[in-house]
Amino acid sequence: MKTLGIHHISATVGHAQENMDFYASVLGLRFIKKTVNFDDRKMYHLYFGNHEAEVGTILTFFPYIDAKSGLIGEGQTTTIILSIPKGSMSYWEKRFDQFGVFHFKTTRFNDKFLTIRDPHGIQLEFVESDIELENRYEFNGVTKEYAIKGIYGVVMQSLDYTNTFSFLENDLGFTNEGKDGYYQRFTTQSTFGHTVDVKFMKTNKGSLGVGTIHHIAFNVKEEELITFKEKLSKYHPTEIKNRKYFKSIYFREPGGAIIELATNSPGFTADEPLEDLGTNFRLPSHYESYRNEIENDLMPVFVQKLDALKNYPYTDKKTYDSYINHQNLLKRVNEFAKISKERELTSEEVQERNEVRKAYVKSVTSGLRNMIEKIDFVDENDNREKAFKIKGDN
Ligand code: ZN
Repeated sequence: MKTLGIHHISATVGHAQENMDFYASVLGLRFIKKTVNFDDRKMYHLYFGNHEAEVGTILTFFPYIDAKSGLIGEGQTTTIILSIPKGSMSYWEKRFDQFGVFHFKTTRFNDKFLTIRDPHGIQLEFVESDIELENRYEFNGVTKEYAIKGIYGVVMQSLDYTNTFSFLENDLGFTNEGKDGYYQRFTTQSTFGHTVDVKFMKTNKGSLGVGTIHHIAFNVKEEELITFKEKLSKYHPTEIKNRKYFKSIYFREPGGAIIELATNSPGFTADEPLEDLGTNFRLPSHYESYRNEIENDLMPVFVQKLDALKNYPYTDKKTYDSYINHQNLLKRVNEFAKISKERELTSEEVQERNEVRKAYVKSVTSGLRNMIEKIDFVDENDNREKAFKIKGDN
């Protein structure tokens, strides 16, 4: 019994709109699902993938505003590797230059990797691959000759290399392809997510938090999930969880990284048709009764054209609303300034302008007060891992 390659990769990031801007607007992936963390409704769970939202192309993110940074290191999946079309690497180098994203190239196993970090510190590598499938989703200048096809694989670091190698080979059914420098390669026969490079260089122990990969999910057939759960009982997997788009179990592999096994069905069209993916806010049934509260709490997020990208001074729905109010007042103040250059304002307009100015000043000062109240002491000694523990993980 073998897994069928990587199903999806999930990472912890910062500001939700910055995450949207990078993966949807800059990388040109399709935003396929807006939902919340099924174990914590106070947090978004944002999904990106190819046009068909196929298993093996899916990257998912948990955006936190106030969480601590994690540390990339041993006991984690450390890098997401994405497949790009043959001959498209120079396009991506230029695109990263255009957006001020630092990049460099490395080689292993005769593959050339273009390496970057996303705005919150997640490591990404791009590799030209032979996959014939083309991602026909085109957005913001990323046309299908350049579009990311899906997941090529991951890099992992382990706290126990011997047993991680054995886990990949004997438990998941990957083939050991040998070694190149600090890397041991494991592969499987699947269109996407077929490669796991284990980097066996002694660095530091990783800790979960913003800028780190939380887990990788391997793809299994629906009818085999139960058998896998029994076969992997030595790793103490969680009970089978219904994630609506797949069913899954979670556990830590012997080297410390969090692993999920997820079923290849029913898929992301379970609750909205292919053409509508990502356009509605989809909640799991156990949170449907909290919809108003959730929508009043989380900042709205948008798939944006390139000319709309900017910095976002808001962190939730309340600060988003006051930001929008502030922008509207500013627009109105400027309109009055323009009109008064052309002609005398009427007495009604003067009265309105004075009110708008007063409201604008109030908005500026309350904005400052909010910012001052946000400054917080950081306790270096508290347990970073605690906040990111999987609910029900045992
Ligand atoms: Zn997952």
